[in-house]
Amino acid sequence: MQPAEKQENTISEIDMKDIVALCKRRGFVFPASDIYGGINGFWDYGPLGIELKNNLRDLWWKHMVITPPIGPDGHPLQIVGIDSAIIQNPKTWVASGHVGGFNDPMVDCKESKSRYRADHLMVYTSGQDKWAAIYNEEDAAAIQKRLKKLGLSDDLSGYDIIPFDKIDQSDYAKIVGPDTKTPGTLTEPRQFSMMLDTYPGVVRDEDSKAYLRPETAQGIFLNYKNVLDSSRVKMPFGIAQVGKAFRNEVTPRNFIYRSREFEQMELEWFCHPDEAKKWRDFWFEERQKFWKLAGLSDDNMIMRDHDSDELSHYAKEGLGTVDIEYRFPFTTPGYGELEGIAHRCDFDLKQHQEHSGQKLEYVDPERGNEKYIPHVIEPAAGLTRGILALICEAYTPDPDRPSGVYMNFTPRMAPKKAAVLPLTAKDGHPDKAEKLYMDLREDFAVDLDIKQNIGKRYARQDEIGTPFCFTIDNDTLQDDTVTVRDRNTMNQERIAMDQVHSYLSEKMKA
Ligand code: ATP
Repeated sequence: MQPAEKQENTISEIDMKDIVALCKRRGFVFPASDIYGGINGFWDYGPLGIELKNNLRDLWWKHMVITPPIGPDGHPLQIVGIDSAIIQNPKTWVASGHVGGFNDPMVDCKESKSRYRADHLMVYTSGQDKWAAIYNEEDAAAIQKRLKKLGLSDDLSGYDIIPFDKIDQSDYAKIVGPDTKTPGTLTEPRQFSMMLDTYPGVVRDEDSKAYLRPETAQGIFLNYKNVLDSSRVKMPFGIAQVGKAFRNEVTPRNFIYRSREFEQMELEWFCHPDEAKKWRDFWFEERQKFWKLAGLSDDNMIMRDHDSDELSHYAKEGLGTVDIEYRFPFTTPGYGELEGIAHRCDFDLKQHQEHSGQKLEYVDPERGNEKYIPHVIEPAAGLTRGILALICEAYTPDPDRPSGVYMNFTPRMAPKKAAVLPLTAKDGHPDKAEKLYMDLREDFAVDLDIKQNIGKRYARQDEIGTPFCFTIDNDTLQDDTVTVRDRNTMNQERIAMDQVHSYLSEKMKA
């Protein structure tokens, strides 16, 4: 991973608007309820988006559950999966600290009626009497535009940038909120619950209130005892889960980066308290390897240690949290969190033991039957945010090709591994193409695209990131060979039709 300063990459020049447009045009991501004008903070995944999401989910699941990593002692780790309910007994969220604790301080603007998360506002202060509060997920150009609009200098080096929650209340009168022109309209930060609630059953009162889970992790803690009692796992071991989570984000923004409904991939790794450090270091390494395998480049990722004042309630006592951050176009030159690797100590199990009255201690036969509540190392990644990172990484403008852009997904992640294209929709080409398609589709996600001129079909495959196109032409009918076109180089070569399957298998290892 690179230090934050050393960045040079075209990603900053890429406009997010172009990425969002391609995602809609080609069927990766659509606004939810599009025909009704959408609904803020919700997104639907189209025919290609779901393939990409499944590919990332499957890679994670394989990496964790099917072929878990080899541990520091040279033996494979033990990790099992679960799929817990989205709605759990509401006591869960009291014990976990989410009811009462999962409250982000919010700042209201009395004039614009907008509401902001206090930890997301940065105040640009200079010698002047007018200070600007700006959302920390804005890029440099947007910040400069905003400052100019307020009649302030757009030379960012001339400002001290202070998080809103560190500003002295006596200075609030100087601050202009992100959506107004006049200073002094922002309130002091107040608590706001981010959990979405619902009322299962017929009665709709406080006692029947339940919550959509704001993280998948708690479903794992609730099943810790069930898993121990029903399977053969022994300390140290992990439980993995992938699934939906819901947060009533105040300002959903940046496409699928921050949405109200999203998906997480979380592992809770249980170990003896004395071994927490060893395992934390182990998971740092493993998780970086994973994201590289999925196709993110080193240049666009950093590891960032949390400052002590941003640590979650559970992490205060422990070894802290390290984030894997990615340089998204809208965070450039900075980074946005992709995954957090936290030492949750014994917080969650202890809390659930206390609130449920069920014993959650582990009796360790390897340690003379020592009884303890295990510590937990938690690599918690965003699946939908991960897809956005893959999409941003893959997006490659190229004025030399008809589509003007191609998606450089690794073959492993590409939604379609290959396309089979008959040169024309007659002369026996389609039959031959269908035969090849039928040979391939058992093992690979393959597109068969018959009509339209070949240039347009290549352009479509470039935009959806298909690494290989196999074209059937008149020669194929004579000698059973096809043309392979490589997405990145656009080079074409001729191979025997009966070699196509092994050719693709070989390429998928990349
Ligand atoms: P942030 O600071 O960005 O709000 P967080 O620290 O609250 O994130 P965690 O609770 O650690 O996030 O959740 C683990 C992962 O879940 C994050 O690294 C991110 O990838 C993903 N995630 C969290 N909130 C959202 C969201 N609103 N939309 C999409 N993904 C999210």
